[in-house]
Amino acid sequence: MTAIVGVRYLATSGLFAWVTHRRRPGLYEGLDKQIRAEIGYSLLSAGIYGVPAGVVAWGWQAHGWTRIYSDPAAWPLWWMPVSLVLCLFLHDTWFYWTHRWMHRPRVFRVFHAVHHASRPPTAWAAMSFHPLEAVTGAVVIPALAFLVPIHVAVLAMLLTIMTVMGITNHMGWEIFPRRLVESRFGNWLITASHHHRHHENYRCNYGLYFRVWDHLCGTDRGISRP
Ligand SMILES: [Zn+2]
Ligand SMILES: [Zn+2]
Repeated sequence: MTAIVGVRYLATSGLFAWVTHRRRPGLYEGLDKQIRAEIGYSLLSAGIYGVPAGVVAWGWQAHGWTRIYSDPAAWPLWWMPVSLVLCLFLHDTWFYWTHRWMHRPRVFRVFHAVHHASRPPTAWAAMSFHPLEAVTGAVVIPALAFLVPIHVAVLAMLLTIMTVMGITNHMGWEIFPRRLVESRFGNWLITASHHHRHHENYRCNYGLYFRVWDHLCGTDRGISRP
């Protein structure tokens, strides 16, 4: 699992770094040293993410643990999209509150300074976390697999969304159309324009996928134009 997470990181971050090179030539110029650190910490995080993921995969296959199911008829079809949105919301909720906690000055220095050393972040920063922060991130999806009945294809979609959004939010430019980002719907979604502001200002825009908690708690400072 560690190898899968590591290769997935290298392949997808590499792909989006290449797209960045084509679409925004020179954007990562002079950031070689930072990118090397981002890759190093990301591979370390891949090692950590692989452990609970491996336990879940083994427990599911060998012992029937977890609530992952593969028969589409086991639950009503409408549950598939609902479980996807529910898992995204629960992941977002966990991320928002642990992220805010990690911005307390004393916690920040230990847990979260590594992630914010990316100034500006690049496509390689998606998993650039201190090992302690990586532990807080690595347990979420495995825990959800025990709590929420989830079809294996929905789980794959959840992991894809997690991977792609983690990368595009740090890429340093907006890949989604302005019309979507600045729409009423976009006001509830997190893309690079929103997370980039977090990396600029630190004390706002703590969410992961949705702006619900940021709006509710008054920590949403809108988007920037990376
Ligand atoms: Zn970030
Ligand atoms: Zn932060």
